[in-house]
Amino acid sequence: MQSFIPDNLPAHGLLIGERWEAGNGEHMLEVRAPFGGHLLATLRESTPAEVDAAVAQAAATFAAQELSPFERATILRRASELIAERAEDFARSIVAEAGKSIRDSRAEVARAVLTFELCAQEATRLTGEVVPVNATPGSENRRAFTMSRPAGVVCAITPFNGPVNQLSHKVPTAIAAGCTVVVKPAEVTPLSAIMLVQTLLDAGLPPGHVTMVQGRGETVGQQLLEDPRFAVYTFTGSTAVGTHIRRTVGLRKTLLELGSNSANIVHTDADLGLAAKALARSLSIYAGQVCISAQRILVQESIFDQFTAQLADHVQALVVGDPSEESTDVGPMISLEAATRAEEWIAEAVADGAELVCGGTRDGQFLTPAVLTRPSLQSSLACREAFAPVAVLIPYATLGEALHIANNTEYGLQAGIFTASLDVALAAAQRLDVGGVIVNDASSYRVDSMPYGGVKQSGTGREGVRYAVEEMTDSRLVVLNLQ
Ligand code: NAD
Repeated sequence: MQSFIPDNLPAHGLLIGERWEAGNGEHMLEVRAPFGGHLLATLRESTPAEVDAAVAQAAATFAAQELSPFERATILRRASELIAERAEDFARSIVAEAGKSIRDSRAEVARAVLTFELCAQEATRLTGEVVPVNATPGSENRRAFTMSRPAGVVCAITPFNGPVNQLSHKVPTAIAAGCTVVVKPAEVTPLSAIMLVQTLLDAGLPPGHVTMVQGRGETVGQQLLEDPRFAVYTFTGSTAVGTHIRRTVGLRKTLLELGSNSANIVHTDADLGLAAKALARSLSIYAGQVCISAQRILVQESIFDQFTAQLADHVQALVVGDPSEESTDVGPMISLEAATRAEEWIAEAVADGAELVCGGTRDGQFLTPAVLTRPSLQSSLACREAFAPVAVLIPYATLGEALHIANNTEYGLQAGIFTASLDVALAAAQRLDVGGVIVNDASSYRVDSMPYGGVKQSGTGREGVRYAVEEMTDSRLVVLNLQ
């Protein structure tokens, strides 16, 4: 695969006002392709003074200039059109820096086009409500209403796994809400994020409404957490970092989309063909580096062997290879370290009695999608977040047992259940301890009109355009004392 740097990618990664700059940082961030390992770009980590200036610019802009809802909608709609025009550049940038397959990268960009359009619509729907204070004795001559006000300056920190989508959940939602936003993308995948911010400028976003810094979490990220000028932190990433953010930022608003080891239940009356196809894709999409990918698959005993065989057929048919090839389903993992850790967890599960049905062979950063059966429920693959193309199949006797196993985890993001029975589906919907239950599709189903987020260690707050905008606005009460 040739090294791909799109023509419209700014050469630098620091945006404070109108122009991109290289910055003065001495620490260099090398962006390397997961496939082939070649150097795509070298950025300077932003210095503390540059981070301070980026936040100051966003804060000053917030104080000085609120865009009208119509202006926000016009800019966001234009940005959506520009992303569509630049779709292939965006997709190739994701392939290059994240190693995601070209088909999945194109799907990621197509989704961003829709997300920006939804944000444009949401910007014109910010409403409040009339509050009947005059129904209270002594308040007959009072009237009251609430109005939606932008919460302030937003800090957006993103992970590596959706270089375009993760930003699309945070930046246009902040703009739709009337906030200004400072962005720090994952240090390993900053290039698509730079393109996306440039696209917003090209769509007419005035300077200062979005600023961007580059750097590692423990340096630049940490400085952002300690800056009192932020009103909202919107973060997607690991539970460890999310917990650290919550502890550091105190009472300020946090929208935290964190880890998971999502459970999917295949009940005895399920359409096994549908379940096998959906779950094979779910466990392998972007080499399993998706927070809601199917990791734990709970299968009713009477169909266990039959379903295992069907799933393995689909998984073995997946094409693993160069992510820029049209035929590729599964590309490399983000790093050698991530692939090696997954390989070790597979070995640990096998040593503890699990059977490796297919896959699990590592070649550099590639791991062939793996299916294991009957793991110890104490093994890492059954309890922790794998973030790799690996699923474990766990047998159960009764639905109650399946729900117990599914809930027996610190995580709770989304779950899937395959069943022909409405009663079973509703019982699962009521008793699964998660943010979303998907019936007759995998846990990884997601579109941006739905509320999305977790319970327990999977996070707080909800994304999905309408819900993220709500998190970034405050409801302000106004009481009129009529004379
Ligand atoms: P990560 O937590 O290592 O990093 C995410 C971001 O946080 C990066 O930009 C990093 O630089 C920054 N960061 C790290 N330490 C920081 C600190 N002390 N202060 C401020 N920022 C800091 O996550 P990752 O490896 O990039 O992504 C994988 C994780 O993300 C997985 O756990 C996955 O489940 C999670 N994820 C969750 C969702 C979701 O929607 N719930 C979606 C995608 C990924």
